[in-house]
Amino acid sequence: MKKMKPESLMMSHGYKSELSVGAIKCPIFQTSTFEFESAEEGKRFFELAYGHRKPAPNEEMGLIYSRINNPDLEILENRLCLWDEAEDAAVFESGMSAISTVMLEFLNPGDLLLMSSPVYGGTDHFSKHVLDRFGIHLMEFSATDRIEEIRARLDASGMAHRLGLIHVETPANPTNAMIDLRAIAELAARYSTEERRVITAVDNTYMGPIWQHPLKHGADLVLYSATKYIGGHSDLIAGAVLGSRELMTRVKTLRTFLGNMTSPYTGWLLMRSLETLKVRMDRQAANAEKIAEFLHAHPKTEKVYFPGIQRRTDKDLDALMKRQCTSNGAMIAFDVAGGEAEAFKFLNALKLVKLAVSLGSTESLAQHPATMTHVDVSEEGRRAMNITGKLVRLSVGVESAEDLIWDIEQALNKVDVPQKAAPQPAV
Ligand SMILES: *Cc1c(COP(=O)(O)O)cnc(C)c1O
Repeated sequence: MKKMKPESLMMSHGYKSELSVGAIKCPIFQTSTFEFESAEEGKRFFELAYGHRKPAPNEEMGLIYSRINNPDLEILENRLCLWDEAEDAAVFESGMSAISTVMLEFLNPGDLLLMSSPVYGGTDHFSKHVLDRFGIHLMEFSATDRIEEIRARLDASGMAHRLGLIHVETPANPTNAMIDLRAIAELAARYSTEERRVITAVDNTYMGPIWQHPLKHGADLVLYSATKYIGGHSDLIAGAVLGSRELMTRVKTLRTFLGNMTSPYTGWLLMRSLETLKVRMDRQAANAEKIAEFLHAHPKTEKVYFPGIQRRTDKDLDALMKRQCTSNGAMIAFDVAGGEAEAFKFLNALKLVKLAVSLGSTESLAQHPATMTHVDVSEEGRRAMNITGKLVRLSVGVESAEDLIWDIEQALNKVDVPQKAAPQPAV
């Protein structure tokens, strides 16, 4: 049979209708436990679940208990693997539980975590205030730092031999700064030894799983807040981790004991979302190109942070985007001419675009990073990332681009740009 694209397989992959009275859709297996056909079968399943023996050829582990396995989660995980061409996947009850489980599994007391900055606020808090209590050290680097600078800092720290995990978020939220994943994989290889491999994990929430595939660029694990594009309808919280079977066995084992897997109902909702993932994201990206263009040309906006605009004048960014991404994405940040007062006026005047945090959903959302998602970032950090009072972040949805631009235009019309030293007409 022809090798089909993931979007063609999202309605059927991994599901056997004969096991569910012919139902065309996978039912919700709202059950905590599963009946064994015999005591011998129960014994065999447990041997595999606890790794007491290797599976025989063609032997699959059976269903035991929904914290360990459930058909909605297993089929969802099989489908998620297709987009990133991963060997295995695990779904979690939130993006934060996916991220924190990976950090807890691959870091031990005394180890060093190397992390890009800025990262999602929850990730930032977990690494600084929770991992810290377990004696795990943190070193941050900025999306704009050169690899040689990072290496020099690692070498000077005296901690390089304890480097356990590199966690990267690219593009960085909210200003879309891009990190070269190939360079990060080379960095991990340089600090890996025979006994100890440095693991790289990439939070791909902003670009994945359609527009960027970190595993193809040398990452070991790819992480998602499935609340965002994968869920895509602002109606659930979930997360995912993907990677090699070997690493995923470790992630799934810790998940079994933390008990932070997603529920069958959320798994079912996510399968429904995956059927339209490609069409949604294609439309969102096409809308974002048009909106970024409009914002770029508008007299009441200043800088527009969108790779599609920035790569025109930044050759390095253009080369990196060509290598690493298949789209400019659908997240735009831009400065409203003036400051916080003008940005607020714009946000309050929006009619179609909703004023809310989160991203990647069918409806367009706008928010103010400096006072909302990034309020916890230090003053200095905010300045380094251009997160000022005038910055607005826009997550572009699937609405009509014409209607979105109409809304943005009428909201910008409500903004009175302070005239700085404009020449006064003679009276
Ligand atoms: C939202 C988000 C998270 C956290 O995900 P939750 O599903 O809210 O737990 C992590 N990383 C990024 C980049 C996000 O946008």
